[in-house]
Amino acid sequence: MASLSQHIMSRRGFCLCCVTATTAAASGGWLTPRQAFAQARNIVDMIRNEAAKAPIKVHGLRRNVSILEGSGGNIGVLTGADGKVFIDAGITVSRPRILKEASSLSGDPIKHVINTHWHFDHTDGNQWLNAEGAAIIAHENTHKHLLVAERVEDWDFTFPSSPLPAIPTETFSSEKILELNRFTLHLKYYGPAHTDSDISVAIPEADVFHCADTYWNGFYPFIDYSTGGNIDGMIKAADANVAAVTDNTIVIPGHGNPVSNKAELSAYRDMLVAIRDNVARLKQQGRSLDETIAAKPTAAFDAKWGQFVITPALFTRLVYQGV
Ligand SMILES: [Zn+2]
Repeated sequence: MASLSQHIMSRRGFCLCCVTATTAAASGGWLTPRQAFAQARNIVDMIRNEAAKAPIKVHGLRRNVSILEGSGGNIGVLTGADGKVFIDAGITVSRPRILKEASSLSGDPIKHVINTHWHFDHTDGNQWLNAEGAAIIAHENTHKHLLVAERVEDWDFTFPSSPLPAIPTETFSSEKILELNRFTLHLKYYGPAHTDSDISVAIPEADVFHCADTYWNGFYPFIDYSTGGNIDGMIKAADANVAAVTDNTIVIPGHGNPVSNKAELSAYRDMLVAIRDNVARLKQQGRSLDETIAAKPTAAFDAKWGQFVITPALFTRLVYQGV
């Protein structure tokens, strides 16, 4: 557990999505989800323990938009007279450190939370943020997933339904505009991608664009097939992200270095497309999953993208499943 802990603490943007692979990496080989889970014992407690220790780092972006890094997914914060707007909620145990850093930005109360998708590392803080007075806004599928016990096969884990104060209070199906703090927040549903509940958040006045977990900056991404994600949806989302930004836009990934740009985003999109094509070709030739992994369809990209918790083998498996 010590090496796993160091691994998590040493890298940015640790995510529940990654635990299966983290465990596999720590043990030096691929494990089935059940084996990985048995080894990790209680991954949710483990993540809470990590978040309980992690410092929260503040990145000032542009105008009154900042990022809080260190509690699950990258949290966007917009300050102003209408109260703070959080983009994602982080993990509950980070509450005192998030509050301290958020208070250092401004004295405004937290009035709105936007969940970019239903995963624990983006919604766990909903309850305390709601207790602070925040309305919770999300795609209707985030609302649906949080209302019930939800199983994620790749984690071999079933999340209980969320308590009522953690459930989104405002939902939408396609797009939603929020006018707050003299900014326009444009929320847009991707369609099935990383899950079936992912939304982007654009703030045009600051030229900032939050991609949720459709973009992992510098790492192969997790794709949650259990709740509607798939590789072709991830590529479609990456195309939409590239089309939505310019060379001046500050691009926020769900995980990885929180301050990114169009060039890095485009490289990520090209990586997804190339690996999808390689894996699809092998699968069409009749290769099994193990044979496809052995053929190393990600090899050209591993040095740059495969050095974190989603290993080349796991990412190959996630792509193979969807082609
Ligand atoms: Zn996620």
